This record gives sequence, C-alpha cells and structure tokens, in this order.
Amino acid sequence: MQPKIFLSPPHMSGNEHQYIMEAFETNWIAPLGPNVDAFEKEIVSYTGAREAIAVSSGTAAIHLALSLLGVTKGDRVFCSSLTFVASANPIVYQGAEPVFIDSEPETWNMSPKALVRGLKEAVMAGRLPKAVIVVNLYGQSAKMDELLSVCNQYDVPMIEDAAESLGSSYKGKASGSFGKFGIFSFNGNKIITTSGGGMLVSNDIEAIQRARFLATQARDPAPHYQHSILGYNYRMSNILAGIGRAQLQVLEDRVEARRRIYNHYYRELSQIPGVHFMPELENTRTNRWLTALTIKVDEANIFVKQLLASLNENNIEARPVWKPLHLQPLFQGVKYYPHDENEHVAERLFQTGICLPSGSNMTEDEQNRVIDIFKEVCEEALTIEGIV
Ligand SMILES: *Cc1c(COP(=O)(O)O)cnc(C)c1O
Repeated sequence: MQPKIFLSPPHMSGNEHQYIMEAFETNWIAPLGPNVDAFEKEIVSYTGAREAIAVSSGTAAIHLALSLLGVTKGDRVFCSSLTFVASANPIVYQGAEPVFIDSEPETWNMSPKALVRGLKEAVMAGRLPKAVIVVNLYGQSAKMDELLSVCNQYDVPMIEDAAESLGSSYKGKASGSFGKFGIFSFNGNKIITTSGGGMLVSNDIEAIQRARFLATQARDPAPHYQHSILGYNYRMSNILAGIGRAQLQVLEDRVEARRRIYNHYYRELSQIPGVHFMPELENTRTNRWLTALTIKVDEANIFVKQLLASLNENNIEARPVWKPLHLQPLFQGVKYYPHDENEHVAERLFQTGICLPSGSNMTEDEQNRVIDIFKEVCEEALTIEGIV
C-alpha cells in the first residue's frame, strides 16, 4: 500500500519553533501574551479590517459575533446551507433559529435571489433575521456586492464566514473584511493553522473590545471576581498564536501552492467528459483551499461515490462536497430557501461534487498518483455499458 495522501494536512514552515520557544523562555504560557497581541495586529494589517481578536476556534468567533449582535432566544439567523456545520451551530447555542439559504451556480455560495426571497417573506411575517452568515466555500468569495446590497437594503448585518478563505480576495479586497464581522479558522486542515484557533475581525473597534470582554469570562473591572453578564472562555493561547504568526508569514506561498495544485488538476482532468471544476468568479482570487469539481453522471457514466471509493481504496483521502445543512438530521424541519423553485443548487453540488487532496505540501508525484487513479477510473467507466 502506498502512503496515505491527506485532503489538507498541516504545513509548517519551520519558523514556528522560534515563536513557541520564545513563549516558553518568557513563560508566556497563557491565553494572552505578546504573540496573541502581535498575531491580532498582523491579521489586521493583512486583511485591512480595523480590529481583530484571536480566539480558540472559528466556531467561537462566530458565536461571539452572534452574541455581539444580540442574537438570542426566538431570533432568526439566515445562513448558507452548503457549508460545514460549525457555521450554523452557534445560532443554536444562542437559542435562535437558523434559516438556510441555497447556493447559486457561479460561486457555489449564497444565492442573492434566494436571500431576497427569504428576507421579503421575513418582512411580511414581521421577523427579520438578526444576522446573515455568508460562507466563502473552499476559498471562493460569495457574490459580496449583491449580498451586501441586499443586507443593507433590509438593514441586516452580515457575518462573513471566511474560515476557508483566508488569503482570497474579492475585487482586490481581502476576504473576511466585507461583513459587519468576519471570522477565520486556524483548524488543522485550513490553509494556515495554529492546530486549533480562530479570529474575529471587524471595523467596529468597540465591538471587538466588547468581544475581548466576553471571551475572557465577562469579568467586570473589580479586584474581586465580579460578573454581571454571561461570558465565555474563548481566548487563544500565546503558544498557538506563535504558530499562527509564523504561518501567516507564508500565507502567500500557501495560496500559490494550492492554486498551482488546482491548475495541475484542471490541466489533467478538465477534458474528461462530465467533469466540471468549481468556477472562479471574475475579479476574485480564490485561495483554492480545496480543489472541488462536479461529475455529471450522464456524461461521465460514473457516480461520485464510485470515484471516491476507488480513491480511498488507493489510500487517497478525497471527500464529497459538504452535505447541505438543510438536509442534516440535526436541522430537520428548519426553513430553507432554494435558489429557484426548480433548481436546488446545494443539493446538486452535494450529489455530484468531490474535493481532491489539495495540501500545499503535497508533492507532484503524490498529485500524479491522484490524477492517474482519477483518469483510470473515469476511462474505465466510459468503456462499460451505461450505468445510468
Ligand atoms: C472550519 C470551519 C469553521 C469552524 O472553524 P473551527 O476553527 O474548526 O471551529 C466554520 N466554518 C467553516 C466554513 C469552516 O470550514
């Protein structure tokens, strides 16, 4: 058996040790310290957002954003349906009710059309959502101009879930800097990692100061431990922030590596009948966190499931596209707005989509192993009697 090729493993630069050692030498082994402060400043300078707070996960950052927006029991929050469950879980932590919005075909992200329909109905029911969580899937920015204009029209703040899109840009502006709040994740599988961690950014400096208070157990300024409201323990460790600082220095290299991997897949696989790669919207630059593509079964004569099985048999970690949240047992019965009555985009992407190994430290030989199996399986499928 050949060694395993992972979907998106961590990729250290080698400089992380230096920051970790410094933390040890100065005994800053705490959920605050010079690395945390510096990491926040560096994210501010990279994204152009005015303020940032480093936290324990991307999920925690979304939770803080909802808390800052006053989301509470009985409220509604709209959220992209085609995403990882962490985008929506914090809505439920707050006792609020998620409403899922379908994708559109050009970015695979939130459909402005479906969002408008949802908001129109919400106005009529007298229940506007407290926030809209827009996800940038696999690094591709959602249609920010359209979505922001709709949100502004209804005066509903946007939370940009940029967990997968650090290093991407939309019309020259950094991903994550569009909403009232932006969130990033430094989980082990993301484009850069601190092993686990996240960041909340905003142009609203006071809101981030408030987030700092909430994320440190909401401790009132008193010498004795006094608390007037409910807080959280969400700050990032000074050791992990050190890893993040070294990782951020190589972010551009990581983006280039992942884009190179995408281009190599594209060159080798896009000619196969029925294979369609995730598009890149004009005037955007995606970090290509994961190379994603769909397979039209009537052209390719193969189901994604079969291809996934063959790749896995060969010790290659490939995955289906996220299962839409409106199809999750956890969210049974939750309201959902399709792109179009007759076009459920996220469902189609889930049924036909596949993510290929895209780690920035994947070697060319490893990638060729993936490509060879992919081609072999597809070529074989085309020679046999129709399965459809
Ligand atoms: C990874 C991810 C998150 C959650 O980030 P964690 O740091 O793992 O909590 C949220 N949203 C999306 C879209 C993600 O991919």
